[in-house]
Amino acid sequence: MADQARNVAILGSTGSIGCRTLDVIRASGGRLCARALTAHRRLDALVRQAVEHRPRWVIATDERLASAHDWRGLPAGTDLLVGADRLPEVVQHAEIEVVVAAIVGSAGLTGTWAATEAGKTVALANKETLVVAGPLVMELARRQGATILPIDSEHSAVFQCLQAGRRQDVRRLILTASGGPFREHSIEQLARVTVPEALAHPTWQMGPKITVDSATMMNKALEVIEARWLFDMRADQVDVVIHPQSVVHSMVEFRDGSVVAQMSPPDMRLPIQYALTYPERWDSTYTQLDITRPWCLEFFPVDLERFPALTLGLEVARRGGTTGAVLNAANEAAVARFLAGQLGFHEIVPACQSVLQHHDFDPTPSLAELWRLDAWAREEVSRWVCP
Ligand code: NDP
Ligand code: MG
Repeated sequence: MADQARNVAILGSTGSIGCRTLDVIRASGGRLCARALTAHRRLDALVRQAVEHRPRWVIATDERLASAHDWRGLPAGTDLLVGADRLPEVVQHAEIEVVVAAIVGSAGLTGTWAATEAGKTVALANKETLVVAGPLVMELARRQGATILPIDSEHSAVFQCLQAGRRQDVRRLILTASGGPFREHSIEQLARVTVPEALAHPTWQMGPKITVDSATMMNKALEVIEARWLFDMRADQVDVVIHPQSVVHSMVEFRDGSVVAQMSPPDMRLPIQYALTYPERWDSTYTQLDITRPWCLEFFPVDLERFPALTLGLEVARRGGTTGAVLNAANEAAVARFLAGQLGFHEIVPACQSVLQHHDFDPTPSLAELWRLDAWAREEVSRWVCP
């Protein structure tokens, strides 16, 4: 008899990671099953996904849009739930085994937290969860017996490389960064970057917020913080190197100097599939590494002067406490303002730095305090004017 399918809830199924997750489920030959899907604004896409995958639940998290939407296309047998406050009951339901956390921004924390609280397996794309509340989430996971498996390609790579040795023998993690579209821009060129330029990433197809984060290198800053909490490393044990080809997804250096790397063509379906099948590995039909043609892998040190976001990330990884929630919210607000044409590309990181400097630091905040600071930091950015 065939094994029963693993029931998956995809939070943010209409986004880039959500759609790639559905690709993996489609290719699984019935071994994975999408039982719950959620969307915020793309409700037509949600209905189309429901027609194809026949989930038990769909959740429309934006209540205003959901109430104005025509839901007649939803298949029989799929229940519609409205509002972000319906996320916990679905992810905590006994039927759900794996929760793919693929909502963008700190809005992703609610669902991830609820899944962790219920001791589920969480396949985590939403790095903001760990940036905002890393110590609280990891402690909750330990207490509740939840497993958090990374989808972020660098962290999936580190997770795989760590299996080559003992934890006490790890010297440092080396995260790779493509460098984004402006890797070779001067400071003057960075000041003139437009929205379409920032949204054109050379190697990855992603949602708009993370694409802008990749261009400022704030994405790598958030990933340093994510790695620090997820793998319980000190901040000074997480390094970053520029690797434009995005083939080496990250590396682990052991105490004897041996460096173990994970390689594959840049395709998010691989780390998503690994998180959904771990500890198993399944066949995949995705692009494979082609070594029959000449190829070249390059590595460069990061220029912190041109990409100061990384300095902020290292500071936040070192200080912990409230800094992650403040940096994350300031960045979300600044990126939204940039995309709306209200803030220059080169002003995103200084705005974050200024808000971070002016907040009341607390080394051991509660979740409620982190939410309060999330709102405060967004408000501060809306008032921020370039000095
Ligand atoms: P997208 O913008 O493509 O998708 C975001 C998803 O979240 C959509 O389903 C969207 O719904 C939903 N959403 C947006 N705002 C809210 C909200 N306030 N409440 C509830 N749901 C919301 O983002 P990505 O898929 O690119 O990224 C998702 C997460 O994965 C991010 O945290 C990102 O950092 C991380 N990640 C992404 C990678 C990638 O390759 N894309 C790689 C590694 C990590 P709708 O579309 O219906 O509005
Ligand atoms: Mg990444």
